[in-house]
Amino acid sequence: MQKVLVSGGAGYIGSHACKALYAAGFEPVTFDNLSTGWAAAVQFGPLEKGDLLDRDRLDEVFAKHQPIAAMHFAALSQVGDSMKNPGGYWRENVLGALNLIEATVAAGCKQFVFSSTCATYGDQDGVVLDENTSQHPINAYGASKLAIEQILANFGATFGLRHVIFRYFNVAGADPDCQVGEYHIPETHLIPLILQAVDGQRPALTVFGTDYDTADGTCIRDYVHVSDLVDAHVLGLNWLLDGKENRQFNLGTGTGFSVKDVISAAKLATNKDVPMTYGDRRPGDATALVSGSERAISELGWKPTKSNMGQMIGDAWRWHQNGGYPEEANAKANEE
Ligand code: UDP
Repeated sequence: MQKVLVSGGAGYIGSHACKALYAAGFEPVTFDNLSTGWAAAVQFGPLEKGDLLDRDRLDEVFAKHQPIAAMHFAALSQVGDSMKNPGGYWRENVLGALNLIEATVAAGCKQFVFSSTCATYGDQDGVVLDENTSQHPINAYGASKLAIEQILANFGATFGLRHVIFRYFNVAGADPDCQVGEYHIPETHLIPLILQAVDGQRPALTVFGTDYDTADGTCIRDYVHVSDLVDAHVLGLNWLLDGKENRQFNLGTGTGFSVKDVISAAKLATNKDVPMTYGDRRPGDATALVSGSERAISELGWKPTKSNMGQMIGDAWRWHQNGGYPEEANAKANEE
């Protein structure tokens, strides 16, 4: 089996990617420091515990497994947090990625798939964002990811490192088989927070800002099912293995949902009320982020089939009711 090194394979999106890679006939080797990920999420290949800031450890893992490609998910990924702690985002995201990219090149591995974000586009007032839209991030998270895109362009030109960059819109849902799912402590993302409010694990969801320039005053985002998103990664890997050009692809659906739209959809999907309050805007939030995703569909042959709001919330709800990963397994693995 050809191996793929998956940084962040113990995290939300990385664990789903490992499942998709395994199903496609690859062996995913997870490289993760378990700072926010879960050993219990690593079910489809080996776990190599390590930190991206530890270059020696990276070299060791590349030498041991000789992967044909690296897929890079590990990152700090919260917009609000990045406005409070920009240094952490530059250090862990940019230096971490630089180490991984350099280790990939040093190991003679030629393929790199990178998780970037729509936050690299910034706030562009009503524009549907396609891959040719200029990038002007308005938060440290987006800025750190854009810097990594630029590093990849440089390493592509100088060392021939071949890469596909995916700019994610808002990733949601969980594996329909409930083997892996979204499990953050603390949780900061909209849909899991709504579900926690629905079942009484928190008193209410706070809607961040009701005075945006949108129809109902709340922010608009484009949500994509995590299982669809990771399918695109397997297509991106095969794109590189087929010798195709370095390329950027948005991953979204082209449909925007306001925060209030998502709350209404959650009421329908769970058949329960969503306790909520209204609060201030969250610094760093763009008004609207909606993808033009034609390129992934026409060039990669991506076919998102699960990215409707009902299925995304329904799958997240079933995963939530399952209770996440078993606490004991997590505690034991995180201590090792
Ligand atoms: N949001 C909210 N209340 C929360 C968390 C998020 O109103 O407790 C809003 C947030 O302002 C944004 C949208 O929900 O407009 C999606 O936020 P999330 O953190 O899930 O993803 P992001 O867009 O930051 O990647």
